[in-house]
Amino acid sequence: MSIMNTFKKGATNISKKTKDTVEINRLKMQNSSKEKEIKELYFEIGKIAYQKHIEEANVTFSENELTLFFQIDTLQHEINETELEIARLNGKKLCQSCGEYVINDIKFCSSCGANFSDFDEPTSNNEEVAATAPNNDLICPNEECQAPVINEAKFCGECGTDLTKLWE
Ligand SMILES: [Zn+2]
Ligand SMILES: [Zn+2]
Repeated sequence: MSIMNTFKKGATNISKKTKDTVEINRLKMQNSSKEKEIKELYFEIGKIAYQKHIEEANVTFSENELTLFFQIDTLQHEINETELEIARLNGKKLCQSCGEYVINDIKFCSSCGANFSDFDEPTSNNEEVAATAPNNDLICPNEECQAPVINEAKFCGECGTDLTKLWE
């Protein structure tokens, strides 16, 4: 009989322990999700502060903040350089007017129609880089041009004619 009682008591203890463990885990999870929320808010604050630094608003930043901003600047610069390198390897270049990457050997930006001869860019030796060939049979509607056009290009790369009607 006393053995039975001990057993029952033990079982109750175990189930209470299990209940506590579940409750502890629930509370821990509650806190860690709130900690995650705080991290996201820190991230937002950081973005706001960084934006102020970029816009050179009338805000004075501490040495520590400036060091962190500088690290972001450096990383962003490295990312941009790498993107440029990836584009170059893809036979593309950056349009200085609209910031889109377009194929190398066109005279007008296929995204904004900017005339590339307006930009003082060094004529790059891109013979080793194969330009992406237009992947459709469409030609420029300008009778004097009739160059093949890049799929979904907004402007003809050869003469700058507006192509948006072609894709409607
Ligand atoms: Zn452009
Ligand atoms: Zn054209």
